[in-house]
Amino acid sequence: MVEKPSVEVLSAEAQKNTPMIQQYLGIKADHPHTLLFYRMGDFYELFFEDAEKASRLLNITLTKRGTSNGEPIKMAGVPFHSVDQYLARLVKLGESVAICEQIGDPATSKGPVERKVQRIITPGTLTDANLLPAREDRALLAVIPGKGLNAHRAGLAWMVLASGDCWLAECEISELQSEIERLGPAEIVLPERIIQRALDASDTPRWYTALTETSVAQSSLPDWHFDEQRGLQRLTQIMCTQDLSGFDAADQTLSIAAANGLLSYVDRTQGDKAGVLQSLRTFRPQQYLVLDAVARRNLELITTLSGEESPTLFSVLDYCATAAGARLLRFWLQNPERAQAVAAARHDAIGLLNRNTIANQTVAVWLHQQLEGCADGERIATRIRMASVRPRELVALLDLLDHAKQLQAAFIHLNDSPLLQTLHGQLLVPDAMANMLRLQLLTEPAANVRDGGVFARNFDAELDELRGIDENCGEFLLQMEAQERARTGIANLKVGFNSVHGFFIEISQGQLEKVPVEYKRRQTLKNAERFITPELKIFEDKALSAKERALNREKYLYEQLLIDLLPFLTALQQCAKAIAQIDVLSNFARLAQRDGWVAPRFVTQPGIEIRAGVHPVVKRQVERFIPNDTVLNERRSLAMITGPNMGGKSTFMRQTALIVLLAYVGSYVPAQQCILGPIDRLFTRIGAADDLAGGRSTFMVEMTEAAAILNAATAQSLVLMDEIGRGTSTFDGLSLAHAIAARLASHNRSLTLFATHYFELTQLATQFENVFNQHLAAAEAPNKGIVFLHEVQDGPASQSYGLEVARLAGLPSAVIKQAKAVLRKLEDQASHSDQQFDLFNDMASAIEVDTSNDEQLSANTQALVTRLANLNPDELSPKEALQALYELKLLQQKIHE
Ligand code: ATP
Repeated sequence: MVEKPSVEVLSAEAQKNTPMIQQYLGIKADHPHTLLFYRMGDFYELFFEDAEKASRLLNITLTKRGTSNGEPIKMAGVPFHSVDQYLARLVKLGESVAICEQIGDPATSKGPVERKVQRIITPGTLTDANLLPAREDRALLAVIPGKGLNAHRAGLAWMVLASGDCWLAECEISELQSEIERLGPAEIVLPERIIQRALDASDTPRWYTALTETSVAQSSLPDWHFDEQRGLQRLTQIMCTQDLSGFDAADQTLSIAAANGLLSYVDRTQGDKAGVLQSLRTFRPQQYLVLDAVARRNLELITTLSGEESPTLFSVLDYCATAAGARLLRFWLQNPERAQAVAAARHDAIGLLNRNTIANQTVAVWLHQQLEGCADGERIATRIRMASVRPRELVALLDLLDHAKQLQAAFIHLNDSPLLQTLHGQLLVPDAMANMLRLQLLTEPAANVRDGGVFARNFDAELDELRGIDENCGEFLLQMEAQERARTGIANLKVGFNSVHGFFIEISQGQLEKVPVEYKRRQTLKNAERFITPELKIFEDKALSAKERALNREKYLYEQLLIDLLPFLTALQQCAKAIAQIDVLSNFARLAQRDGWVAPRFVTQPGIEIRAGVHPVVKRQVERFIPNDTVLNERRSLAMITGPNMGGKSTFMRQTALIVLLAYVGSYVPAQQCILGPIDRLFTRIGAADDLAGGRSTFMVEMTEAAAILNAATAQSLVLMDEIGRGTSTFDGLSLAHAIAARLASHNRSLTLFATHYFELTQLATQFENVFNQHLAAAEAPNKGIVFLHEVQDGPASQSYGLEVARLAGLPSAVIKQAKAVLRKLEDQASHSDQQFDLFNDMASAIEVDTSNDEQLSANTQALVTRLANLNPDELSPKEALQALYELKLLQQKIHE
């Protein structure tokens, strides 16, 4: 990290520079890690290393200007009117930019014009419409590791500045990386010294490794900003509450400390704008159907495994009419709630939107038409708060408010759905807001206030007059000429203007005796005299400055308007959020109608029953998709799925997970029938993925993921296991796969789809009553070779078609022939040997090891309980109490090991 130069060093160096470069260096010293855009006339210039970096990143010319310490100063610049496009590119690359403006008056300043950094643009603090992607959020996350007894925890606070939504959460350090991947922040703020200590430590702490494994831009602040007490004060002050219990945050000590860092960073970069924070929520994992980072990636919810934006679940679902709707849909997909009631309320609403009609079409279709092109009320509200909103956005808001009123009227008939009723109530924004905008603004205002032409006529008398002077100057002079001719009786009196002397009344020599006394001489010409009157002087003052004053007046009126709009913003934001929900619901409704999706039904009994389920993404890619059933419950909890490569195992497993997810998100689902019990987590272990960057081989990744599943999956978890044990030797892999499946069936008892090529595992169905076999059917057609039926059928696959698939894939026939010969030999050997028998013995002992582990586990648990029971807090000295606490902690750690 670049150290800020000390004042002495700076002044010694500064001596050798021009005053302007001295000023530059002074400002740059306050922003050492940020590219400094230094305003000079119509350009923003960058100097020294910044110039080099910007020229590289933006592909702009690197030039030189003057010298510093005898060395030429590198310089690069961008025109101020097109700065946004350069900023957007830099921010996309994870860079931050400090915008330094001229704030002094060049005409009156001695030396360089006074300059100041007016705003800092960083990847996580964007609110400008030109820099933000419309259909995606950009979150800023602050993270702080816990200390002492809390050292295994991390505090997180994150905020989407553009909408003002803020969350608090705490997690185990072991979950930190997964949490960061879930949140997908654009920037992470961290405490400076704590990072430095982590970097200096011989053994890098785990929390820091978790952070560095994500490629998110990082920023830092002095540690004292991450203070719980200050955080509590700030948050209660912003939310206008006594404490944070109303936000379920009473116990969130670490994340409140992180929140203070977050708010300080917002203040620092945006100029004390932390007040844009509008909603505060505490994220509790137990309220959500948890998908860890692996599951999210494997299921290709938002991006494909290769990092593309489509085809993904989001890409096939997002037909939202508004950008805010698309953002909410993305959020719902990433954070499905566990409460069945939340999803069920959405299902009810969808049904209603499809059953009812307006203007001969379903309400869902009508809503979509209404909402298309609607302004982004959520983001505009924030920009009003930040005083950075543009005039045209305010006019667009009028359109949004009109639509909100129409929706309100339409929703009156939809009161069978409590959710739609609630949304109906939230659409209400006082008419005064729209009236204010309509009264004040032109229907097509200028793009920027600084250009003038924003306010309507007849709104402000002073502005009208100023504009009148500017526009009607010529007419005023003619009027005055006529008036003065009549008053003085001088027929050839002229009223005119000259740029040196200003306005004048010109009287020819012969008429001078008729000049009234209030005329004051201004200039003498050969045949005439020029005069000024008090009235003309007033006009002159007004006219000369009218344009500038009109611009200033509009600026003032605009600031005033933004202040006057503040009381309406809470209602506006609520309305915008309601519109986003209505948009997503109508989107779901239209999808359901178009593709014949059904409403899922929730029950309290654990289990999944999907009839004729379809994979919503694969369905679009194949000519004819074969629907399949998934039935898992306490009695049949683990399906061992076999079948040929390309048979459709992965598709079937993923479609089950996606249908469950869609149901809990609140959408209808692609199936004929869907009955779901409670689901707490969704785990996947799919395919082979190397994590070379993280230094883990395919097999290591596979086993780490399997371990995470075995440690955390419950009877209410949906577990997808695809091809476990493939990354090692056959017998190792087979015994591991067997032991893992056995553990899932006997211990976790999770709802499991277990796809495998190890045919031997089908034996498990005879050992465990809750394990059953299924296979993906295939057939051999005469002259065609293998035909995949993609149909899930009960029982194990009758044979493997590996060689057939390889032939289809185009492997040379000589290779296939040779493989067939080897296969025959192997099969012969296997049937004559006792290998299989030995193997299953191995497997059985693997299960025994598991059981002894359980005993170990319960011994530790027992010790913990006994220790607790023997404790009498009243009899303990503070020292003993602390000692006891450490012992308990140790026992708890043993249980988790
Ligand atoms: P492997 O064992 O090689 O990973 P797999 O059995 O997991 O193969 P999938 O990847 O699920 O097979 O499916 C292979 C292809 O078969 C898919 O890309 C899709 O085109 C098609 N397919 C899968 N399921 C169906 C289905 N139900 N209906 C129609 N086509 C399907």
